[in-house]
Amino acid sequence: MNKIYDIFIVGGGINGCGIARDAASRGYSVSLAEKNDLSSGTSSASSKLIHGGLRYLENYEFLLVRKALKERDTLLNIAPHIVKESRIILPHHKGLRPAWILKLGMMLYDNLYLSSFIKRSKSIDISSHESQGVLLDSYSKGFEYSDCSADDSRLTILNAVDAKKFGAHISTRTFVNKIEQIDNIWEIQTTNSLSGESQTVKAKVVINATGPWVDTFLKDSYRKIK
Ligand SMILES: Cc1cc2nc3c(=O)[nH]c(=O)nc-3n(C[C@H](O)[C@H](O)[C@H](O)COP(=O)(O)OP(=O)(O)OC[C@H]3O[C@@H](n4cnc5c(N)ncnc54)[C@H](O)[C@@H]3O)c2cc1C
Repeated sequence: MNKIYDIFIVGGGINGCGIARDAASRGYSVSLAEKNDLSSGTSSASSKLIHGGLRYLENYEFLLVRKALKERDTLLNIAPHIVKESRIILPHHKGLRPAWILKLGMMLYDNLYLSSFIKRSKSIDISSHESQGVLLDSYSKGFEYSDCSADDSRLTILNAVDAKKFGAHISTRTFVNKIEQIDNIWEIQTTNSLSGESQTVKAKVVINATGPWVDTFLKDSYRKIK
């Protein structure tokens, strides 16, 4: 076991698999271990939205929203077979923010990053709109805007498949028990939950992509020797 990987990734969710794909495509040697199956954590339990984050505009997070809108377009460009435009109807009523504020928010959402793929937002008259009949009669005005949706689990797995094509080593059912840094090289101990077999892998860098387990993993598995 003399090979020293450039990068070892703990966790096979969207972050772990996305990092594996990106790093392997840039020529780094990559190994990834996932304790269960790929995407068995939060990456299969999301609301499936690929969004810019309309609501973050309220917190003046303009740069963040712009970056996310740009990513949304990148995903539409590279994975149009699974990332689809979803048209969202927002009926307006008195309990909401004034209509002009919502309209302004959507104009910003359209213009912070100009999408090459999806339709712009617009105001709608619900009484003559296709959503009429689904919504209560009391709604008369509203808005239509676009975000995207995708099968989150499949998107994760496609990243892993691509990472593997670029040479990454992907292991499922492989629990990372312990990581220790010895003379700037990480030694990673793993156990295969099917065979019970343990292994030690070496890497220059370890990425903790364990999502909700990030703190537990650090507390239980990380040991710095020098
Ligand atoms: C209800 C809900 C709605 C959401 N909606 C959206 C949305 O619309 N759009 C959006 O972009 N995001 C959304 N999110 C957030 C998104 O789902 C998460 O940010 C994303 O899935 C996190 O991915 P991850 O790879 O960091 O973590 P995870 O997918 O949880 O992956 C972590 C992996 O690490 C593994 N692991 C843990 N410990 C070890 C160990 N010791 N050894 C080996 N493997 C280990 C786990 O088994 C797990 O598979 C939503 C989340 C939820 C819960």
